[in-house]
Amino acid sequence: MRRGLEAGVKVGAAAAPAPGAAEAGRTPLIGLSREELAREIAALGEPAFRARQLWHWLYCRGAGRFADMTTLSKAFRARLEARYGLARPQASQDQRSADGTRKWLCRFADGQEAECVHIPEADRGTLCISSQVGCTLTCRFCHTGTQRLVRNLEAGEIVGQLMLARDALGDWPSGGAERAITNLVLMGMGEPLYNFDNVAKALGILMDPEGIALSKRRITLSTAGVVPMIRRCGESLGVNLAVSLHAVTDALRDELVPLNRKYPVAELIKACRDYPGANNARRITFEYVMLRGVNDSPADARALARLLKGIPSKVNLIPFNPWPGAPYACSAPATIARFADIVAEEGYVATVRAPRGRDIMAACGQLKSASVKPPRRARSAPPQAAAVPSS
Ligand code: SAH
Repeated sequence: MRRGLEAGVKVGAAAAPAPGAAEAGRTPLIGLSREELAREIAALGEPAFRARQLWHWLYCRGAGRFADMTTLSKAFRARLEARYGLARPQASQDQRSADGTRKWLCRFADGQEAECVHIPEADRGTLCISSQVGCTLTCRFCHTGTQRLVRNLEAGEIVGQLMLARDALGDWPSGGAERAITNLVLMGMGEPLYNFDNVAKALGILMDPEGIALSKRRITLSTAGVVPMIRRCGESLGVNLAVSLHAVTDALRDELVPLNRKYPVAELIKACRDYPGANNARRITFEYVMLRGVNDSPADARALARLLKGIPSKVNLIPFNPWPGAPYACSAPATIARFADIVAEEGYVATVRAPRGRDIMAACGQLKSASVKPPRRARSAPPQAAAVPSS
């Protein structure tokens, strides 16, 4: 089926130039809000409906070249071409898992890189995207946590990951029942609530009903618990919330998720209790990584259920995904099943996340790019992008 592609084999070429090089001096259109695009087109002296047509070409049809925008006059296309760029991030690597999961290493205009993962299932296709290059959080069980934060991703770079994936999956035009990408999760590299403005702008573009039109019900933002931003996330974006809880006591959570020292469990739980829009039909997902002998006892399961009392929640147990040098092991399947049973007996929906894409290091917590922060003096020149795998 995979036509000669072996599981875990790199199929992408790293030769293509970074988008910035090809479009130097031109304004990228991907990442402009509807309003910003309208202002650009108005400034060119074009009528407002041209901006809508252009938006349609960008986000319904996925046009990668102005030449393809056949409803626009040739003269207008030429004017656009002279000023604007359509580039997406480049796939500097493209890997496929034996289970159908596909991972791209996305290279941005400055050569920095972040990963994005497509997870096909029978009834849906989920794209997991990154919000930062690297991460500040240093969660002890997470591979990305061993990479320092390089920078936030721009709105266009967040949207660009989906554009790249849809290009690669042949998933244009937007709409229709048979889409390869039906759901979006912000569960890749980085902490989305530490890059809120760019994430919010990107989601505004992705949810726009005249474009990609992803429903907020099909988008889940995962946070390690940036308490002051949680309400804002619910109020202004209205997307589903997932919280990386992983431990029920401050003592253990301080160790596993150092952000807990700033926003302890009780504050986090309160913010979840108050999350706008949460109800029994729209529950908050609590993610809980299963670490052998660390947080996986029956007493932990009961304590978890007690903690979540009164919150419309579901529990998603994530078998720990190993990475080179990780200081933990995954709980035994029977331990995970027992844990899930106890949580369920206490009245919560408890699911065990099937590990996907482990063979290409695409599973939760395995993402890492070789990007590093350039030294201060060199920052104006694009750094050499090192196209090496995440392990
Ligand atoms: N910073 C956000 C977004 C990352 S989401 C957050 O923490 O929620 C990635 C999810 O995978 C989080 O729930 C994270 O805790 C979990 N995870 C990280 N490392 C993991 C690993 N090695 N095995 C399984 N899950 C892991």
